[in-house]
Amino acid sequence: NPSTPSNFIKNVITEDLKSGKVKEIVTRFPPEPNGYLHIGHARAIWINFTLAAEFGGKTNLRFDDTNPVKEDTEYVKSIQEDVKWLGFEWEELRFASDYFDEMYNRAVLLIKKGKAFIDDLSADQIRETRGTLKSPGSNSPYRDRSVEENLELFEGMRAGKFDDGAKVLRAKIDMSSPNINLRDPIIYRISHTYHHNTGDKWCIYPMYAFAHPLEDAIEGITHSLCSLEFEDQRPFYDWVVAECEMPNVPHQYEFGRLNVEQTLTSKRKLKLLVDEQHVDGWDDPRMPTISGLRRLGYTPEAIRNFIYETGISKTQGVVDLQMLEHFIREDLKLKALRTMAVLNPLKVVITNYPEGQNEWFDVENNIENPDMGNRQVPFSREIYIEQDDFMEVPPNKYFRLFPGNEVRLKNAYFIKCNEVIKDEEGHVVEIHCTYDPETKSGSGFTARKVKGTIHWIDASQAVPAEFRLYEPLIKAEESEEETEQTEEGEEKEEKTFLDQINPNSLEIVQGFIEPGMRDVVSQDKFQFFRHGYFNVDSKYSTPGHPVFNRIVSLKSSFKI
Ligand code: ATP
Ligand code: MG
Ligand code: MG
Repeated sequence: NPSTPSNFIKNVITEDLKSGKVKEIVTRFPPEPNGYLHIGHARAIWINFTLAAEFGGKTNLRFDDTNPVKEDTEYVKSIQEDVKWLGFEWEELRFASDYFDEMYNRAVLLIKKGKAFIDDLSADQIRETRGTLKSPGSNSPYRDRSVEENLELFEGMRAGKFDDGAKVLRAKIDMSSPNINLRDPIIYRISHTYHHNTGDKWCIYPMYAFAHPLEDAIEGITHSLCSLEFEDQRPFYDWVVAECEMPNVPHQYEFGRLNVEQTLTSKRKLKLLVDEQHVDGWDDPRMPTISGLRRLGYTPEAIRNFIYETGISKTQGVVDLQMLEHFIREDLKLKALRTMAVLNPLKVVITNYPEGQNEWFDVENNIENPDMGNRQVPFSREIYIEQDDFMEVPPNKYFRLFPGNEVRLKNAYFIKCNEVIKDEEGHVVEIHCTYDPETKSGSGFTARKVKGTIHWIDASQAVPAEFRLYEPLIKAEESEEETEQTEEGEEKEEKTFLDQINPNSLEIVQGFIEPGMRDVVSQDKFQFFRHGYFNVDSKYSTPGHPVFNRIVSLKSSFKI
């Protein structure tokens, strides 16, 4: 999509360009490299990149790497890969940590202006004296330290004279502000931690709320677009830009977070799933990460179209999971080769078909897209059908194969079941049928009709394959609502979400595919007759033995 739907941020940008307030739009996508990107991030990426591009502007990819304890170069790499894969090109690649010197100098400026002080209170004490929404906080006993003392202590913090947590630098604003974020927020903390970019150069790190506005200002960001949970931070954002006397003045605008039904969009929770091995990595096809969706078989087009359709608004509802699925079906409908795959096979011997003989049927690759041409599908005396397509004692309205019944084999002949072969334990191992040569597909045969059509694979040339069928990782009705990320709440919330893990989220099934598909490669996508859309798995497929992930089944009642 070349442009964004009309929305409030677009109105602001249009106005700012018209009034001359800004000359060029510069945005940024600022992930913290503490996990892989998920579907929620796709909205932030899309908004930042598409809005800037629409107005001839540019977008930086900036790693907000101010918290070394949780960050890693693995994430730096995966995030770049995912943004590119989604189809976006950044103007410049930046690291917040490249600005640590400047941030330090700006903090010193605040101290000199009497706008920041070193506090010896512990993190707990600071939290306890912060007050609540209804009651003001109280001033720290260290709040009135002299500028000289503050400068000396801050220098000492930087030089490594103090242990982690011994001191912090706090902005000096107003402990009775109705906005808790303005009650002398912490802006620097001590952390003797190796940083993926700056190594051991620093043992103090800026807090996110202080660092972020500076990063935006340093890069000349005009419109700093972020999700709604940062709304309460905006007054502090503006305070930092003003009090630090930044020459460029960026402005923050918030949009609603994207939440999808039965889908976790919190890196913290996703990391827990990986760390506790509930999934086989960040790119497990059940993960709502960009890399998981890619491995499952989503295309960048489908994701972008989905994001476009969910729109940009200030309200953050929960989007129907079926809406995401709708867009991958739409994208693959005319692109994917439609072939047959037999899951859980059952052998059928066509007793009146000559032994040693075979024939080839000419089959359309995609009946909705003739441009995709035709292919040849072999047929012979022995074929595989699905176990589910045969019942020895069928219920009412079962039109598939059962003793005495005739069905159509897709693209081939009518066959009739005559005999059921069982093993010693009574399990059906083979079905004996006869075929009627008159009923050949395409021959115009109309003398009799059958009610069931089933699919099959020629047994002599069938290629074995594995099929992985997924259900949502999280049981119905659980989704990621906007959660206040209070440190107190975190632990409890994590526990309840782990209780909601669906034990049946992965079903592994063996079967066969057509011989023409022997050489499929990772990420090839197909529609398997009656089963849905599948993608060749990039991790478990081996040459000659593909593993298919089911992206989505065929049917959906979802309407845009
Ligand atoms: P998480 O809460 O999953 O850890 P985050 O917000 O901490 O995500 P960041 O790396 O800080 O992750 O996010 C980068 C950008 O993506 C931020 O600007 C944030 O507003 C945005 N973002 C994150 N999650 C969503 C979401 N679900 N919907 C829209 N934007 C999001
Ligand atoms: Mg974050
Ligand atoms: Mg967050």
